[in-house]
Amino acid sequence: MKPIPYGRQNITQEDIQAVVETLTSDFLTQGPKITEFEQRFAEYIGVKYALAVSNGTAALHLCAMAMNVNENSRVIVTPITFAASANCVRYCNGQVFFADINPKSFLIDIEKIRDLLQKHPKGYFHGIIPVDFAGNAVNLEQLRKLADEYGCWIIEDACHAPGGYFIDSKGNKQHCGNCNFTDLAIFSFHPVKHIACGEGGMITTNDEKLYQRLLKLRTHGITKDPTLLIKNDGGWYYEMQELGYNYRLTDFQAALGTSQLQRADKELARRRQIAKKYADAFAGKPHIIGQSGFVEGHAYHLYIIEVDRRKELYDFLRTKNIFAQVLYIPVHTLPYYQNLGFNEGDFPVAETYYQHCLALPMYPTLTEEEQDFVIEKVKEVVK
Ligand SMILES: *Cc1c(COP(=O)(O)O)cnc(C)c1O
Repeated sequence: MKPIPYGRQNITQEDIQAVVETLTSDFLTQGPKITEFEQRFAEYIGVKYALAVSNGTAALHLCAMAMNVNENSRVIVTPITFAASANCVRYCNGQVFFADINPKSFLIDIEKIRDLLQKHPKGYFHGIIPVDFAGNAVNLEQLRKLADEYGCWIIEDACHAPGGYFIDSKGNKQHCGNCNFTDLAIFSFHPVKHIACGEGGMITTNDEKLYQRLLKLRTHGITKDPTLLIKNDGGWYYEMQELGYNYRLTDFQAALGTSQLQRADKELARRRQIAKKYADAFAGKPHIIGQSGFVEGHAYHLYIIEVDRRKELYDFLRTKNIFAQVLYIPVHTLPYYQNLGFNEGDFPVAETYYQHCLALPMYPTLTEEEQDFVIEKVKEVVK
């Protein structure tokens, strides 16, 4: 068997063609392919505005800036995520707070957020960054209700969940990143995510003001829009109105993204098929627990099992060329966050999850034989 990673991109001949065409066009960056990618992505997600940026971390940073995070801001984040979900608060000198996860969904526990909010006067916290971890959609309708009681904004980190959804109280599908219950949402197009641009990210919102501000922040805080200028010296004139960054995506990356997006539904269906097969294979295995069943609306960026002898299983799978992965090390236990005052033991559910979790290979081009092989090898260790 050739190596089986936990996730990988799928680049087709059409993808290559799309990139090559862009390379020989007039625009390498900020050309028509960016706009096309943004429009198609907004349609796919069901949101008004989409703004392409250089990566998911840049998307988070700009969103934190757009919500005016500063040294007085207190923001609640889940400990089970990639560090970037919390780091964006730190880029703006804000204070990170964590709320523990739910042991079944592995998502930030809304009741734990409520406990945290209730411990302090209204106005103490400013924002919440929920993560659709592994592709499992956070119930943002419930979270919005709670956030509104305490005057908090919400930035949804939907990096794992393009195409994922939850069912709202009226029975409607609410797709991750559609911003019906949030201020902003972000996505990543790192190769291991659903849609690959190499590096790439997207911000979505329904708020025109936020969108206009983000457009500026993406390119140094500079605008040339005549309606936004304070004065106007002529056709060449631009104004840098606030301190922004160069977080632009290139046109050839956007072309790759658009090409990939056309297969997104098909590949998501394949991910769900793989998840069903894992769920069936491990059904009735009392030693494989956690979210090993099949969940509706889950976008299955990751398929996670929890087992007791996790290190043994991880090491054994590697000897079989299966590169299952442990995701994530709780953010509050990383040395940088420990230096900020967090300690092991602070969020016991997240830490217990970390002791047992393992992400099995999950990507659209995983073959039936490869998945059978993975299942067989997992069962050799976990009876
Ligand atoms: C990948 C990821 C990011 C960061 O995205 P990049 O494009 O790698 O910068 C942020 N949050 C989560 C949950 C992620 O998985």
